[in-house]
Amino acid sequence: MPELVAEQPVALSTRVTRVLAGNPGFMTGPGTNSYLIGTRDIAVLDPGPALSAHVDALLEAANLTGGRIRWIVLTHTHQDHAPAAIELQRRTGAEILGQSPLPGDPAQATLRVDREIAHGTVLKTDEFTLRALHTPGHVGNHLCYLLEEEKLLFSGDHLINGSTVVIIPPSGHMGDYLRSLDMLRHEDIAVIAPGHGDVIGNAQALVQFTIAHRLARERKVMEKLGATPRSLQELTPQVYDDVSQALHPVAQYSLHAHLIKLAEDGLVLEEENGWRLA
Ligand SMILES: [Zn+2]
Repeated sequence: MPELVAEQPVALSTRVTRVLAGNPGFMTGPGTNSYLIGTRDIAVLDPGPALSAHVDALLEAANLTGGRIRWIVLTHTHQDHAPAAIELQRRTGAEILGQSPLPGDPAQATLRVDREIAHGTVLKTDEFTLRALHTPGHVGNHLCYLLEEEKLLFSGDHLINGSTVVIIPPSGHMGDYLRSLDMLRHEDIAVIAPGHGDVIGNAQALVQFTIAHRLARERKVMEKLGATPRSLQELTPQVYDDVSQALHPVAQYSLHAHLIKLAEDGLVLEEENGWRLA
């Protein structure tokens, strides 16, 4: 596998080039992956954070093939994935496709989606067929995109390499997340090109693993609950005793998301001072 070096274009296939943005960090791993799809009429999938150097690198990558950036395709509107769309659009005139920012998303103030993409929407050229799959869970306006010619799924933050995705309520929803994963089991996917980290070869194995991992965590949440309400602060170190303490503040979000799902399933109740079995 090619190395992950910021702002260096890496050809993943004849149709797909990856450009890693220079925004490594605790929540972004090596940084955000942007992908150029096509070599003549080009779609840039997830233009990334608002870094001019990254927009420069995307334009240079398009120049390498003599192509023109026609579309900017968004998996979702988080700060590490979408804001470069504004500068990239200004410099290319490309059309922004995706789902608009939801209430509470800071991108609502700045980012305008030109064309709303629904589940099943297809962007097609003589080089590629890109089909949108609505995958709420990480956030409600999250889309994955399947490059049908290569059975390659651009997974955004639905599935990432090297870590599990944090689900932060209320924009994140564990029940939706699991339903979106289950939907992917029925799609013909061989390879995953994630929003963070390198390409993942055995796509369906990762989907299955992630479902099993979430359900195992859910069982552990149930085991730690009883008749007396317990707070998130109390539960986190017990439910995540296998995870480094440094990650507990982040894990607490996903725990909250698990509890909300279990409440929706009728298995737990939230009371004033915490959560208990129903
Ligand atoms: Zn995200």
